[in-house]
Amino acid sequence: MNRRDFFKAAGFGLVAAASPISISAADTATRHISRGGRLNLSFEPYELKLRHSFNLAKSSRTTTPDVQVRLEYDGLVGYGEASMPPYLGESVDSVTRFLGSLDLSQFDDPFRIEDIHDYMDSVAPDNRAAKASVDIALHDLTGKIMGQPWYKIWGLNPDNAPDTSYTIGIDTAEVVRQKVDEADAYNVLKVKMGLDNDKELVEIIRSKTDRPICVDANQGWDDREKALNMCHWLAERNCLFVEQPMPKERIDDTAWLRERSPLPIIADEFLQRLPDVRRAAGIYDGINIKLMKSTGMHEAYKMAVLAKALGMKVMLGCMTETSCGISAASQLAPMVDWADLDGNLLIANDRFDGARIVNGQVRVPLDRPGIGVVPL
Ligand code: MG
Repeated sequence: MNRRDFFKAAGFGLVAAASPISISAADTATRHISRGGRLNLSFEPYELKLRHSFNLAKSSRTTTPDVQVRLEYDGLVGYGEASMPPYLGESVDSVTRFLGSLDLSQFDDPFRIEDIHDYMDSVAPDNRAAKASVDIALHDLTGKIMGQPWYKIWGLNPDNAPDTSYTIGIDTAEVVRQKVDEADAYNVLKVKMGLDNDKELVEIIRSKTDRPICVDANQGWDDREKALNMCHWLAERNCLFVEQPMPKERIDDTAWLRERSPLPIIADEFLQRLPDVRRAAGIYDGINIKLMKSTGMHEAYKMAVLAKALGMKVMLGCMTETSCGISAASQLAPMVDWADLDGNLLIANDRFDGARIVNGQVRVPLDRPGIGVVPL
């Protein structure tokens, strides 16, 4: 059996196989680009339904807009995804407009990932989630052509993936207790903070479990003295680190806090792409890389390498995403210090089988090529 036949038998997304993405009414919204070229990009909006309303310091929502992407090449399909939580400034409209403006027919080789990124950056400077969707599909496609998952192509050992955390948002005491119960499979809990009841939230969690927590204030702490007090208080309660404690513009205050904090201070909203990593050095102890910010796996890998070279901690995060985006990020997990890759478990309408939680670690299917997903 040659490699193509193997993929076909295994159902790894050959075009000739049954349509991998169930497209019904949304089919009319699917637009095809560069039909005549060898790289054929198509996409459709797909609203993610959240299991619980997602409450952050500055917003609350029950759905996340998302766009699902397919990249066809020589009989193979690569899957990608753009997830657009509103605070990032992208929308279904901006993503589909950007994707619709791309002409990938000029590329006859999907391995030209760097050239394709340069091209996308030349089309528009931002649109990071839209670029990530193409990047993820390219990685899925090229991994399938090589017959290997990306963790292997990068030379990473999946056993080195850290425990991944399960996110508990700002909510009522009853819902917080319920979420702690739901998080049984996880060794680390991530707690969203930034409102007046921060300590209460931690006390509720501590009444149920002594598992380590990490805290994400989502820029919610305005006063640096108060932020420092919280860091000391949390350090006494088995907290691993604090993510984005203060507004991203408060650079001097964050540096002040970092010098004094007993816990590492991690940048999230502060940074997006590769050039931001150097900017974060000296202000933060580490960075939170997310594919939807970094324009995908290609730049996320470079960010992780640079941050490690600068002596910084690396965290790998996500948005609410299907298992497509989460599995793509999970390929990188063995090279980071902390993983927060639970976005697929926060939604009720996943459409891929991919990364799973095993003994608290996020694990990709070991021998499934590309990003490791199969459509449900
Ligand atoms: Mg965060």
